[in-house]
Amino acid sequence: MATSKLKTETIHLQCTECKRKNYTTTKNKQNVPEKIELQKYCKFDKKHTLHKEIKVAR
Ligand SMILES: [Zn+2]
Repeated sequence: MATSKLKTETIHLQCTECKRKNYTTTKNKQNVPEKIELQKYCKFDKKHTLHKEIKVAR
């Protein structure tokens, strides 16, 4: 019997305005199957912008 591992995944949060990857975080794929979208501060745009999840390139 396999132990139940938490399926956490490392993701980047990318600014939708300047396309920079400003944040790195982890999420639990089982609890959060949909893409994360958050209002975060972008220091390049100097304002809060929408940041969307993108996969970390391996
Ligand atoms: Zn930005």
